[in-house]
Amino acid sequence: MEFLVLLGPPGAGKGTLSRRLQALAGFQALSTGEVIRREMADPSSSFGPVARPYMDRGEYVPDSLAISLFSSILSPSPLDTRWCLDGFPRTPPQADWFRGACEEGGHRILGCVFLEITPEHAARRLRQRRVCRVCRAPYHLEARPPREPGRCDACHGNLIPREDDDAERLARRQEAYHLRTRPLLEALARTMPVWSVDGAVDPAAQAASVLRNLPPLP
Ligand code: AMP
Repeated sequence: MEFLVLLGPPGAGKGTLSRRLQALAGFQALSTGEVIRREMADPSSSFGPVARPYMDRGEYVPDSLAISLFSSILSPSPLDTRWCLDGFPRTPPQADWFRGACEEGGHRILGCVFLEITPEHAARRLRQRRVCRVCRAPYHLEARPPREPGRCDACHGNLIPREDDDAERLARRQEAYHLRTRPLLEALARTMPVWSVDGAVDPAAQAASVLRNLPPLP
């Protein structure tokens, strides 16, 4: 397997960039946050109820939980999958585990993209973010509006702000990012190439810049 890691604060545009790289360059976008939200919505999931109290507070789920979720997605996946990781690894223990698992499995880490954005710009973007209550498709009121206001293009479900984008939870998520995820950057840079990309520019330009920097892909 091959991995490209995306790092950046809430609202930096990691989800949008990973979906672009999926459309353009054969990546499989994987958002651990989205997987956790799906698990929480699934009444038969044993993972959802364990994650819920953390998600409800805007805190990271424990490392052991994030790691077991991530490995449960990876293990049945084809070995030639090229992943674009949005939201994993997110803490030093996750990064250590990830490096070890890649070494052990003979997987290749292509590098890390650091999406830089000012807090003001990120906050503006999050205020405009909507998701479909039913199928979770993402929208942005200006950059990616639905065809019919308030309705999902795909399933016609209601569009709502993301549950953890309210001011209180967002503040906790930003704090967790600054305390636990941002410091990862220096550690990752010692073991893999790291490219900074301007989170404020058009996602097409971001994707082009990432693809220019990547080593040749098979
Ligand atoms: P995101 O969709 O990336 O903004 O993630 C939403 C929330 O999911 C985060 O605030 C965390 O509570 C949780 N989450 C997602 N990925 C991880 C991870 N790798 N480790 C711990 N918590 C995570």
